[in-house]
Formats: sequence, C-alpha cells, structure tokens
Amino acid sequence: MSKGAFAVPISQMAGCVQASATLAAAAKAKQLKTEGIHVYDFSLGEPDFLTPEHICRAAFKAMQDGFTHYTPASGIPELRAAIARTYQKLYGLRCGPDQIIVSNGAKHSISTALATVVGPGDEVIIPTPYWVSYSDLVLMTGATPVLVPTSLESGFKMSPAQLREALTPRSRLLMINSPSNPTGTVYLRQELEALADVILDTNVTVLSDEIYERLVFGDARTTCFATLRPGLAERTLTISGVSKSYAMTGWRMGWTIGPAHVVKAMGNVQSQQTGCPSSISQYAALEALEGVQECVEKMRREFEARRDLVCKRLADLPGVRCRVPEGAFYAFFNIEAHFGRAFAGKKVTDSASFCQVALESAHVNLVPGSAFGAEGYVRLSFAASREQINGGLDQLEKLLVT
Ligand code: PLP
Repeated sequence: MSKGAFAVPISQMAGCVQASATLAAAAKAKQLKTEGIHVYDFSLGEPDFLTPEHICRAAFKAMQDGFTHYTPASGIPELRAAIARTYQKLYGLRCGPDQIIVSNGAKHSISTALATVVGPGDEVIIPTPYWVSYSDLVLMTGATPVLVPTSLESGFKMSPAQLREALTPRSRLLMINSPSNPTGTVYLRQELEALADVILDTNVTVLSDEIYERLVFGDARTTCFATLRPGLAERTLTISGVSKSYAMTGWRMGWTIGPAHVVKAMGNVQSQQTGCPSSISQYAALEALEGVQECVEKMRREFEARRDLVCKRLADLPGVRCRVPEGAFYAFFNIEAHFGRAFAGKKVTDSASFCQVALESAHVNLVPGSAFGAEGYVRLSFAASREQINGGLDQLEKLLVT
C-alpha cells in the first residue's frame, strides 16, 4: 500500500448509524435559501420562540456568580431536587434525588439510559411511527429494535394485543412516547394502563419519553407512565427535559427518573462519557422549573392555534389524510393518493420523492414518513409562524391541485 492511502476503518457501532433525517432535510433547505429562495421550512423539531428572558437572566447570573465549572456527573443537587418537586406537583410521582440524573438534552438521556440497560442479544420494542433517533440509538448498543407498526386508523397507538405479540424471551425494553413525535398522538390514560398491565406480567423495563408533556391540546391530558400502577416506577425510566416546554433546545438539558441503581449506573456511564452536563444550562433549567410558568402556557396556546390552522388547511388539500394531533407540534399526514403522479416531470413514488417535489417545486420543506418508520406519510412541524404556515400550505395546495 502506498504511503497516505490508509483509510481509517469505521467501527461496527458507528457503521450502523444513519445521519439524522430531519437534519439532512434542513441542510437541503438551507442550500435553497442560500440561492435566495424563500423556503417554507416545516422540518425542524424545535419551538420557534426565544427562550424566556427570566431563564436567560438566570444563566447570565450563574456565569457572573462563577458557576462555570464542572458539576457532579448526575447534575447539581438543586436541579435534581427541583425536578423531584415538579413531578410530585404535576403527577404525584415521589422520587428522591438519587433517582434523578440530568443529561445534555433528552436525546443524551435516552442514549445513556439505553447504554445502561440494554446490549447485544436484547430486544427493544418500539411502536412505529417512532422518533427518528430511537432505532439508531438502540442499534448503537448492539440490541435489536423490534418495530410494531401502528396506523392512522388506530390513532397511531399500539394495542395491548400488539404488545403481547411482540414480546419474546429476549425482550428487555419497551420505548413509548406520548405525546408523540412524529404523530402528535397522546394516549389516553386507560390505554397506557392497559399497556402497563401487559408489561407488569413480564421482565420488561419501560422507557417513557415524555418530552412533549406540557404541549397537549383540547381535552388531551399528559400521563406520567411511571405513576399508572403500583410497581411501575420500579421498572420505568421517565425521560423529559426543558427543550420543548421552555423553548430551550440549544441549552441541551434533559433528565431521567428511574430506579436508584439504574440512575447510579447511568451516572457512572455519563461521568466517563461527558463528565457532567453544562453548569450554566443547569442553572437555566432550574429557573425554568422553579420560576414563573406563564411562558409555558403562552407557547402551548399558540401551538394549539397553529394545530387548528394546520388541520383546517390540510383538510382542504386533495389526497391528504390527517389525524388531528392532540399534542406536540407535528401534523403527520398520509399522501399515498399522490403516489404515481408526476410533478414538473418528477414522479412521486414514496414519501421521500414527495418531499423532494414539495421542496423543489413548492419550496415547502417536510420530512418523509420513511424516516420515522412509516412510509406513505410526511411530517409537518408547526413550530413556525401562522403566516409561514398559511404561505407554505398555499404553495402545497397549488402544487397538489394541479
Ligand atoms: N424525544 C423526542 C420524542 C423528541 O422529539 C426529541 C427532540 O426532537 C427528543 C427526545 C430530544 O430532545 P432534546 O432536544 O432535549 O435532546
């Protein structure tokens, strides 16, 4: 081999990971924007609001006060105590600080939780459509994702019978996400209780991703899975954070609540991987949880108004079927009626080609359902102003009506 021709081999773990599809779509839209084209961008999963000012001020004060150094690997005791108080107040969940670990965003919480409780040979049950990162994060541990398809007709909800059917002697974990990204589905309390009853007869742990817990609309209510039945908290890892509720995606603050021995092991993993979560962001998260809460309701109300607007506009589009999302900030709609059609000479055959046509011909950026394990659908994020929503849906309407 000639000098310099060496290619560093990629590990098995890194080789099984795909680039995040939502970020790839954002990159495509960015390119059009640099060409001076206005793109109606409905691809990103983050609130378009500024982080509330009192939270930013708390972060600045933390810096001025010198809280700019390493913290305990699992997070500062004040924040963990504030998280415990929040769960007690909102859901009646009793947990001590030794049952809480703070991480660099909920994605990091999920990654650390998975690395701590599953490995090669284990199966992880994931209802689809699922959030893009779930299956890749599972694959990175060497475990196997077992995907359970749900449909628009079933409200994108997994039934107890489906869960029972997916269980094998190798099942170790169930991942559940309500309110859901990408569908906006919020399970009813009794539906989660029925799933919990199946789980309680097994040796399966539950990872309940409740990151959109504060963003529910109409009569929908958030359920904290760990509180549903006696004994469930001992086998549930509750994941959440401040990213979506407080418009703090860039601060990278998430947490896990679970059995003390799991949290301790997660702390060991985290201490080796990242040292600790950002000190400044932890003080910001503390203010988010303990400070005034009006900002949360203000943003929730705006998301609800946008949800209504998006659903009304989608109902008028030909060949589109959408279920009204009860939470989060996504509409996940079926576009299979357009498969086989050609737009500006480009044939639509699947959700990816539909999104490509929507972006290139209508300058509307959506994410293909295939990224969420659900072909035939696309996801529209309504974390965008009502003006942008109307403009983008005008464009989409023009495209689909032709
Ligand atoms: N879980 C779900 C379902 C999400 O949609 C996201 C972000 O899009 C996350 C977790 C990660 O949140 P964070 O930004 O706190 O890492």
